[in-house]
Amino acid sequence: MNNNIKITVLGTGTSVGIPALGKLGWGKCDPSNPKNKRQRCAILIQSKNTTILVDAGPDIKNQLIEHNVQKLDAVFITHSHSDHVSGLDELRPFYFYNREKINIFTNKQTSKFLLKRYDYLFTKNKSSQSYFQPPLEMNEIDYFEEIILNDIKINTIKQNHGVIDTLGFIFNNVFAYCTDVVGFPKKSFKYLYNMKVLIITGLRQSPHTAHAHFDLSFDWIAKLNPEVAYLTHLSPESDHDAVTKLCPPNTYPAYDGLILNIKIT
Ligand SMILES: [Zn+2]
Ligand SMILES: [Zn+2]
Repeated sequence: MNNNIKITVLGTGTSVGIPALGKLGWGKCDPSNPKNKRQRCAILIQSKNTTILVDAGPDIKNQLIEHNVQKLDAVFITHSHSDHVSGLDELRPFYFYNREKINIFTNKQTSKFLLKRYDYLFTKNKSSQSYFQPPLEMNEIDYFEEIILNDIKINTIKQNHGVIDTLGFIFNNVFAYCTDVVGFPKKSFKYLYNMKVLIITGLRQSPHTAHAHFDLSFDWIAKLNPEVAYLTHLSPESDHDAVTKLCPPNTYPAYDGLILNIKIT
């Protein structure tokens, strides 16, 4: 079986994106460097016949248009924060085209939140227009589960994100995506060793209660020993070139539009 996967990094910014609205703007980031323009975090994982989206924040329509995504086989949601879910409504046209419901996969806590906040996307109710059919289907998953979708295998892990927990995902045993994390239970950490690619939160230089700062991310990367690591969920304090200089070998700040092809031998 050919299990090669292609990762497209759709967004790498913290919750407000870069530039942020108002006076926060570009923060310390150089506006003349295109890599400093950061939409909200999301990634696409594609194999020969399967396309998986992770998270659907407020920029998702433009992100998917830009990369000409014609279909989605599944959407995995890391947690319920707005910068990861507030674009779910934008996915409706995929359903309009072929009337196949879009499968959403997330944990119990996030599922409960989404079914309440976006009830009309999942359940037909009296206030829906007669022609409107809910386009999304909820699939509840747990931490430390294994899910197979065609030729992609997904393992889930638990991550701490301040007052809530988030899902981390490992694809085909070679690529781990760990955003919105400030701590890992021991059990999760064990799943993350020796990846070909690790994408992990690296918010900024100073510590934060919900997101790993650079030194913490670098410490994890040193222990986990991936072939290459990329930082994501960067704040307006984190200029691309300045962060590049801080990074240890084989570690880089990710940027919107980054594409990584992983060959599995
Ligand atoms: Zn976030
Ligand atoms: Zn979050």
